[in-house]
Amino acid sequence: MKKLAIFGATGSIGVQTLKAIELYPERFSVFALTANKNYKLLLELCKKYKPQYVALADGNASKEFKKNIPKGTKLIEGDDCLEIIAALNGYDTAVMAQVGISGLLPTVCAIKSGKKIALANKEVLVTAGSIIKKLLKDNNSEIFPIDSEHSAIWQSLRAGNKNEVSSIVLTASGGPFYGYNKNQLDAVTASDALKHPTWNMGKKITIDSATLMNKGFEIAEASFLFDLPENKIKVTVHRESIIHSMVNFVDGNTVAALAKPDMSVPILYALSYPERLKGYTDNLEFDKIQKLTFLSVDSENFPCIEICREGLRKGKSALAAINAANEIAVDSFLNQKIKFTDIPKIISDSFKNFSDIDLNTAEEVLSLDKEVRKFALSLI
Ligand code: NDP
Ligand code: MG
Repeated sequence: MKKLAIFGATGSIGVQTLKAIELYPERFSVFALTANKNYKLLLELCKKYKPQYVALADGNASKEFKKNIPKGTKLIEGDDCLEIIAALNGYDTAVMAQVGISGLLPTVCAIKSGKKIALANKEVLVTAGSIIKKLLKDNNSEIFPIDSEHSAIWQSLRAGNKNEVSSIVLTASGGPFYGYNKNQLDAVTASDALKHPTWNMGKKITIDSATLMNKGFEIAEASFLFDLPENKIKVTVHRESIIHSMVNFVDGNTVAALAKPDMSVPILYALSYPERLKGYTDNLEFDKIQKLTFLSVDSENFPCIEICREGLRKGKSALAAINAANEIAVDSFLNQKIKFTDIPKIISDSFKNFSDIDLNTAEEVLSLDKEVRKFALSLI
């Protein structure tokens, strides 16, 4: 029996994780669930999945939850409630499905207490990739990727040895604005950006997909997960989201993982690895798909991928600065304070000022994150 603590249980990935493990009650059990503010959904989830522990990062939501706390569930309160849950004994794998840098400390605590990590929250690796890698090694822990591209690479890598890999290719849907020019992008609204062509996800990652920042982050995520330099990670736009990513081997072969665009597939693989379990999704019917297309990235109108590539090459605090500025910019765009095309500008300006600082601990990452947020807010 694998016991899970699901961080960000009320989100898109969290809810899909719970639904996926429902199929295998003899294999998976729910030890803990966490959320930020959505105490009503967390209450429902508690009634259904009966976790031993819960926590809500938001103090007021935690108080509301407490009024109706189900029997048998213990609520952990306080500013460090998520870290306390992460460090508890009694579970095996932390499913990290919180959004943004809020996932960093719980991930660190889970690794330090010897847990495995099923990782959806890419911002953890973007902001603190080298720190996390060292912690994994020191604590004999492992990350199992949930992000669909990284799941595809992870699966494809099983076809050869590491020294036989010549490069990897991440596929990108291109988001809702693929093919738009500068003037069109200047005019798009948050509600336009929230209509993703192939995936139904939380708001922040949906905006990141529209700016292609999500793909930039995924380059960094792949670099840390698979130990590859930036120049060996290519991106191609593949509107259908059928091929989830590919590995090019030195002998001219390319191995890819294909599936319907349904996150329950990589979620279940991350939790069942090295086995495969039948989930909700059937295999593809290729004669119905007929054709798969590949296009180039428009780096001029969508500069975020290049900003991330530069950040990854620079190292040090560059990617943490990019992430912090991006979180502020995305939030401001969602609240209609800035235009879509202001997002990369705010990130570039912030990143230039904060890219050369040594970061050795998660606490240092968080303190830089605070400073960059202040700076980025001053630009809005
Ligand atoms: P959602 O916005 O749907 O869910 C986010 C979850 O995190 C919610 O449970 C939310 O709680 C919780 N949360 C938000 N802020 C905080 C905070 N400050 N402290 C603690 N918990 C917090 O996001 P997604 O599920 O879409 O994405 C989660 C992560 O997975 C992201 O990093 C994303 O990049 C990654 N990912 C998502 C994919 C997808 O298909 N959705 C695909 C690949 C990666 P509450 O509900 O209470 O606000
Ligand atoms: Mg992805």
